[in-house]
Amino acid sequence: MLYLTHKMKSIQTTSYEIHFNALAYKSLNVYLKNENFSKIVILVDENTHNHCLPYFLSHVTFDAVLEIIEIQSGEIHKTIDTCMGVWRTLSELSADRKSLLINLGGGVVTDLGGFVASTYKRGIKFINVPTSLLAMVDASVGGKTGVDLDLSKNQIGTITFADMVLIDSHFLDTLPKNELRSGFAEMLKHGLISDKKYWNTLRHLKQLTLNDLDELIHHSIVIKNDVVSKDPNEMGLRKILNFGHTLGHAIESYCLDNEDIKTLLHGEAIAVGMILEGYLSSKICGLSNYDLQGIKDTFKATYPYVSFNDHSKKQIIELMQSDKKNSHGHVKFVLLESIGKCQIDIEVEDTLILEAFAYYSN
Ligand code: NAD
Repeated sequence: MLYLTHKMKSIQTTSYEIHFNALAYKSLNVYLKNENFSKIVILVDENTHNHCLPYFLSHVTFDAVLEIIEIQSGEIHKTIDTCMGVWRTLSELSADRKSLLINLGGGVVTDLGGFVASTYKRGIKFINVPTSLLAMVDASVGGKTGVDLDLSKNQIGTITFADMVLIDSHFLDTLPKNELRSGFAEMLKHGLISDKKYWNTLRHLKQLTLNDLDELIHHSIVIKNDVVSKDPNEMGLRKILNFGHTLGHAIESYCLDNEDIKTLLHGEAIAVGMILEGYLSSKICGLSNYDLQGIKDTFKATYPYVSFNDHSKKQIIELMQSDKKNSHGHVKFVLLESIGKCQIDIEVEDTLILEAFAYYSN
């Protein structure tokens, strides 16, 4: 046992429950029996359709009519156009206000499915069954739903909580290794923003085994849920979950939009973002050079190196200015005072951001 001493206990959030592994299916079966839905629709992408749906179906008992809707996988499909398709299909299937949507997939499916459910007929119930590591430890928990608007990530969305979240690490068996690493970046972030011991545990792991992951996933969700439950609408504390994301999202969008640059996975982009924002933390908030070096070493050892020229840096800074978390036209960063302790709403000069890029590249 790596880190935790308790078994995979369900987590009770302020408005819903998160269940793990075998207990997840038991809880879902009881819930479905009690709720008596008119129709149950499962949203998948083509990968989760192939790899996850058969296993999921074999563990759940459905009394209501069951329908499957498939969307195309990938961040480029996390758009309002895809939502239109899902809304239309729900309507054609005569889904009503007593229908349930089950989002079975990675963060794209859970974000988009949550948004579709929160708006269809002014809101129907939905359940998240995350199948990627990133969606398990982050996207499926905390109520943020939404889609991208052109190049701006998650510009359109709602904060609406799922009725239940079910975590089964069995799904990770088929998840490609780079996707597993992508989700691991959010777990490292959880350590950086609130738990130094967890950060040290994670960064010294020799390899990610599914056995260890069970407990680590649980701990990451406890951290995220703790933050969200204290500040569900992101008035203050919840902003700490955005560490690495102010620049990370801009980098992700920049790569998505440039065909000659390799698209980065979400976690790969925020890994770069965390090195850059770690540097800003050391210059502005007193993060020690020792901890900064630890952050740089950890992320550089695990994630692909990304090369930025002057033009790309300028574009990334411009994209960052349009981040939805800005207020009154100012970009606000979450920075680290030390590992496990953040400061929020920090403004940073562009010149310092360019210095951070230079630090990353050295
Ligand atoms: P994703 O949904 O695109 O999944 C990654 C890839 O893995 C996809 O190709 C998917 O089809 C495939 N996949 C998923 N599960 C699989 C499995 N078990 N076996 C085989 N293939 C599988 O992306 P992601 O990394 O899961 O999530 C990224 C998204 O999450 C981004 O859009 C990001 O903005 C969002 N996000 C949201 C929040 C939030 O609070 N709502 C937090 C963090 C990230």
